[in-house]
Amino acid sequence: MDENLFSVFKRHVPAPEARLMETQDGWHLSYAATFEMAERFAAVLTGLQVQPGDRVAVQIDKSPEAIALYLGCAAAGAVFLPLNTAYTPAEVEFFVGDAEPRVLVASPERSAALRPVAAAKGACLETMGARGEGTLLERLREVQPGFAPVPRTGDDLAAILYTSGTTGRSKGAMLSHANLTSNAFTLVDYWRFTKDDVLLHALPIFHTHGLFVATNVTLLAGGSMLFLPGFDADTVLRLLPRATAMMGVPTFYSRLLARPEFTADLCRNMRLFVSGSAPLSAEVHKAFFERTGHAILERYGMTETNMNTSNPYADERRPGTVGFPLPGVDLRIADRETGEILPKGAVGVIEVKGPNVFKGYWNLPEKTQEEFRADGFFVTGDMGMIDERGYVHIVGRDKDLIITGGFNVYPAEVEALIDAIPGVAESAVIGLPHPDFGEGVTAVVALKPGAQLTEDAIKAALAEKLAKFKQPKRVFFVPSLKRNTMGKIQKVELRADYAGTFA
Ligand code: AMP
Repeated sequence: MDENLFSVFKRHVPAPEARLMETQDGWHLSYAATFEMAERFAAVLTGLQVQPGDRVAVQIDKSPEAIALYLGCAAAGAVFLPLNTAYTPAEVEFFVGDAEPRVLVASPERSAALRPVAAAKGACLETMGARGEGTLLERLREVQPGFAPVPRTGDDLAAILYTSGTTGRSKGAMLSHANLTSNAFTLVDYWRFTKDDVLLHALPIFHTHGLFVATNVTLLAGGSMLFLPGFDADTVLRLLPRATAMMGVPTFYSRLLARPEFTADLCRNMRLFVSGSAPLSAEVHKAFFERTGHAILERYGMTETNMNTSNPYADERRPGTVGFPLPGVDLRIADRETGEILPKGAVGVIEVKGPNVFKGYWNLPEKTQEEFRADGFFVTGDMGMIDERGYVHIVGRDKDLIITGGFNVYPAEVEALIDAIPGVAESAVIGLPHPDFGEGVTAVVALKPGAQLTEDAIKAALAEKLAKFKQPKRVFFVPSLKRNTMGKIQKVELRADYAGTFA
């Protein structure tokens, strides 16, 4: 049977005339209309010489038509490649150069800047706006419906999503049709989605969370989405009483809690709040429960793997944990260097295997090989442990990138400057949980014998050299930095030691 995700969704739809998406202005689109639009997109793409396996890159604003385009790419057998709308043309140039898409779809206001980018790489530039405008939508009106989806095997690629590179280089995660549909089947079941669900969709759709988790789960269950351009607390508060489920990042929930009008009564039809993509603090979990009576369900996934773990639907949702491995997902904790499998309670790198795990990084066979163990487990780069009851805890990223106020800080850059200060023996720069910035840059410094440096002296020495957001907010002194047998500083332990600094 055809495993094209478009065909899978179409086969499973319980009621084609049912509503799939509704915008905040009340415009709505049924399943049948969305599928028909997707087939027209497939016809348009095919007319633009897109062959099965070709990439179609898009940097467009969120709209119901963008979902139809995603499905249309699948129907055409093409590989959907969504790009963050915040990327500059220079950044898009890198992705276009790397992925060599046949077509680049840009929102109309970006088209002038992206036209030369597309032209330089031989890609065809089309435009598409969030209000029905653009060349791609004009072409859509000129083709006939009824495009027969290109059959795909489960292993054929459906999408490439670029990860935010922790060492500067962004990597394209290749996701197959079966990667996406298998995870959607699992989540529909695990989170008990049905055709009666109304999902409040306020996430971006260039990322796995909003594009795959939220959208694919709704599509497969036959439910509907209140499809918002982004998270706006007023709009969310207005629409909440109509919703049964919401998926969000932790800040959605803390922003709702900051509003006194956010009450249990507004959540009267809600059955499920899901959180992921970043750690949800136990405090927010607790405050949310006290306010609404709902225990937020935290889950853990990543671009490369789709969803790996989830707190249970019916059983205890433990704050500060990401729950259990999902059915079909094998998860283990291993020593990062040796690969030795660690027992319960021990901290190590989280490794996963299952139908959800991606096919590798586009154009990077060696990097792909490095990230997989010989027995097929993918090394996530997240450090974690499994507690005595089987709940998975994430304790931090292996990759030591710090994200503060949305900006990336590479510790090595700050460490090098600190190490250069006379009297410093060595330093480690880490990110610690910070209520305003997500993470606060923190330096842990060992001095040379006899040196007399203070916290203020270190900060002053860096002030002229580093952008403000990269400067440590706190500096701690230690006699020496802990290292493992391989000579590496144990940043996971350092983070644990100073975890409460900005609490
Ligand atoms: P992305 O590929 O952008 O989805 O980012 C994936 C990364 O986000 C994971 O590797 C984790 O580091 C982090 N992440 C996702 N969900 C959670 C969670 N519930 N708690 C903590 N970190 C998370």
